[in-house]
Amino acid sequence: MALLEIRDLRGGIRDLEIVKGINLTINPGEVHAIMGPNGSGKSTLGKILAGHEEYQPAGGKVIFKGKDLFELTPEERANEGLFLAFQYPVEIPGVSNAYFLRAAINERLKYHNKPEMSAGAFRRHMNEKIKLVDMDPELAKRPVNEDFSGGEKKRNEIFHMAVLEPTLAILDETDSGLDIDALRIVAQGINQQRTADNALIVITHYQRLLDYVVPDFVHVLYQGRIVKSGTKDLAHELEDKGYDWIREEMDAAG
Ligand code: ADP
Ligand code: MG
Repeated sequence: MALLEIRDLRGGIRDLEIVKGINLTINPGEVHAIMGPNGSGKSTLGKILAGHEEYQPAGGKVIFKGKDLFELTPEERANEGLFLAFQYPVEIPGVSNAYFLRAAINERLKYHNKPEMSAGAFRRHMNEKIKLVDMDPELAKRPVNEDFSGGEKKRNEIFHMAVLEPTLAILDETDSGLDIDALRIVAQGINQQRTADNALIVITHYQRLLDYVVPDFVHVLYQGRIVKSGTKDLAHELEDKGYDWIREEMDAAG
């Protein structure tokens, strides 16, 4: 069974349709990269899937682990193993990173009728993941993302992913704002979390992340639709040629 099946998904914000008919099937173990020019609807797609309150589906269907995704609340989606790393991570003043993550893990355990994780077990789990993403342990004690640098926020998103161990993670431009060393560490952290059972959607502008997190499929989103799909070679082609040829092809096709 596919992990995620998106069928003719349309949606956006209020009466503005941004995503205009997307079809995409993601199987366990796969990495899909979504590329495309600015404003093509990549972040909107992620937000509709995660259940951002302002971004709503307007048509089509999404099946996640055999369930109708839009019948689930955002919290239920997270508890089912869906995770979105934001392009612009949100700050949560007054709530420490560690507290936030422990609450999220325990919510999920409760949802699955399992006992809570003890404070000690959580600390061990967290410390292991801090090492995995080579994050400053002090950041775990501070309020979520508050006054973090751009790079620290991105690394923190991957830390959250590592702690929460999602079945399907959507990473929205997690590579932007990272220098090359941080990018490599973050990519290693992502790769170490890959299993045969989980999958990744990597939204990115740049080929460089895909040198480390090698995608099985690359899709180009343009004006709310997937207009081209291919293998990792397509990402190289885009890096070399930019997006203009996609625009030209689309305009020629009318
Ligand atoms: P991408 O992530 O591919 O750069 P986005 O999904 O962020 O693109 O945005 C797609 C289009 O939708 C853009 O033209 C953007 O300005 C518009 N858009 C996104 N969110 C909103 C919003 N809240 N209000 C108005 N327009 C929006
Ligand atoms: Mg975006």
